[in-house]
Amino acid sequence: MLAGSVTDARLNDVAAMPFSRSVQCSIPVGVSKIETDVLVIGTGIAGLSAALAASEHGRVLVVCKGELHDSNTRYAQGGIAVPTQDPRDIEAHIEDTLRVACGLADLDIVKYVIQRAPAAVEKLITRGMAFDREGGMLARTREGGHSRSRVLHARGDATGLELGATLAKHVHGTPNIHVIQFCMAEDLMTCDGRCTGAMVWLNDSERAVIRARTTIIATGGTGGIFLHTTNPLGATADGTVMALRAGAVLASMEFMQFHPTALHVGIEPMPLVSEALRGEGARLVDAGGRRFMSDYHSDGELAPRDVVSRAIVTELRRARGDCVFLDVRHWPTDFMSGRFPNVYKTCRGNGIDPAHQLVPVRPAAHYMIGGVRVDRHGRSSLDGLFACGEASCTGMHGANRLASNSLLEALVLAEVCGQAAAQEAMSEANPAPRFPDHGERSPARSSNSGPNAIAAWRRRIREASWEYVGMIRSGTGISAMQALIEDATVALSTTHPCRSLIELRNIITAAAMIAFAAAMRTESRGVHYREDHPQSNDAQLKQIELCLVDGHLTGNWSS
Ligand SMILES: Cc1cc2nc3c(=O)[nH]c(=O)nc-3n(C[C@H](O)[C@H](O)[C@H](O)COP(=O)(O)OP(=O)(O)OC[C@H]3O[C@@H](n4cnc5c(N)ncnc54)[C@H](O)[C@@H]3O)c2cc1C
Repeated sequence: MLAGSVTDARLNDVAAMPFSRSVQCSIPVGVSKIETDVLVIGTGIAGLSAALAASEHGRVLVVCKGELHDSNTRYAQGGIAVPTQDPRDIEAHIEDTLRVACGLADLDIVKYVIQRAPAAVEKLITRGMAFDREGGMLARTREGGHSRSRVLHARGDATGLELGATLAKHVHGTPNIHVIQFCMAEDLMTCDGRCTGAMVWLNDSERAVIRARTTIIATGGTGGIFLHTTNPLGATADGTVMALRAGAVLASMEFMQFHPTALHVGIEPMPLVSEALRGEGARLVDAGGRRFMSDYHSDGELAPRDVVSRAIVTELRRARGDCVFLDVRHWPTDFMSGRFPNVYKTCRGNGIDPAHQLVPVRPAAHYMIGGVRVDRHGRSSLDGLFACGEASCTGMHGANRLASNSLLEALVLAEVCGQAAAQEAMSEANPAPRFPDHGERSPARSSNSGPNAIAAWRRRIREASWEYVGMIRSGTGISAMQALIEDATVALSTTHPCRSLIELRNIITAAAMIAFAAAMRTESRGVHYREDHPQSNDAQLKQIELCLVDGHLTGNWSS
């Protein structure tokens, strides 16, 4: 059924959950006020690229909830998928992206991003980004789902670190940009149907209101809501949830991508063992040393991520094991330490010598395809609010993201988003939003009340998300998730706000959104797999859009 209405009873229960609204016009008494033209929330590749672009037009304030470098971007290893200028190469990249996306990618966005990729990378290089080279040419490797070698990397597997450092250097050197670290956005401000900035926590006890002509959400991913994840644990979908509460439309929240190979050594977040290892010939084997991927896909170890992830889970269920293994013992002795220095160092630091031992790996939550629904300029459905990077949903990845396409999407579209947000901010038709003089007393105070309860609920929700709305889903599991969400909502409703509770509430809302969309999509497609509906159903070849209607979560199939 493709109508907006949904018949599943559990779904209706969750739809009735109270989702508290964003801060409206009034400002709590005693809260500091900060003004800017463009507010950027997030300092990964998306936030920094958007800030640099916006700074050409107006004042930009950038906030992040940890240190500037603490982001998913920092952890990116494999690289950025970029075609050469050759039109055949561009066409092949577009085809690979569409094929992996299982029919749901937006062709216009895919073309727009990939055609601009070579120029975006040239600009990055002029900014000082030192990609690895072979014989003077950019070195390109191949990853799962790619028909050609096109993934650029830096310092072997330190691409994200280099990228973040390059952009941060420019941000620090730009007078128009001001950065506040350890500043956590709690909610967006809205006035007369327009986003006017955000309410933030400057530290554990002090709040401020940032008034901005336009606001850009660049808060990254959602992996932190799952028990096993490669994301930093602060990846709790804050921006996506704030946008929902403020009245924006979200899309594709059922599509969470799991990475097949995270290092299984008890570290949190789990260190990624880049797909590029398999691109370079690493073999995936079971505990008995048997290569099993050819049983599942003709591309073997280079099959798309969702196929490899589910194959591993199937093998683990069959063998009742905790992990499978990557075997690189056939590589020349120094190859791994030279080509993948970080993975090599992490293995050695955990007592594994890949030259002589198998490397234990298992799937982990990795990339959120869904997010704030935006157009190619990053404009959301809420006036004054923009989004880019992993927190946004442009339609580029459809139902499954091609490896290394996320940095590319952020690189190209965050710049466009930054420009559009700044131009709108500086337009005469958009006067600076006013703070009303009167205010209400802030009910929020820093509180340590219930830290154990908060930690316990966080763990329970992460375990349940992994179990019920993770890689293999079913109607029964989704219902169990929804029941737990209701319990958590009731249990936490009286706890005083503090940063950890705000994160937990975002985790719960993000889990609720994933469960809601996963219940609506009664088919399997891309990274969304329902064991009770294992086939794809082309009648559902549409995006699911979520929004709040009268405080209730509501889902619609896109037209
Ligand atoms: C281990 C790992 C490896 C990866 N490898 C690759 C790869 O090789 N190629 C590829 O294309 N992609 C890769 N990805 C995915 C890619 O790194 C991310 O999709 C991308 O970096 C996201 O960038 P972003 O700027 O949108 O968000 P992030 O880089 O995650 O930045 C989010 C920012 O938002 C801030 N923030 C969040 N919430 C708040 C709040 N409430 N208030 C204030 N600030 C907030 C954070 O502090 C942070 O600064 C990888 C991801 C991981 C985790």
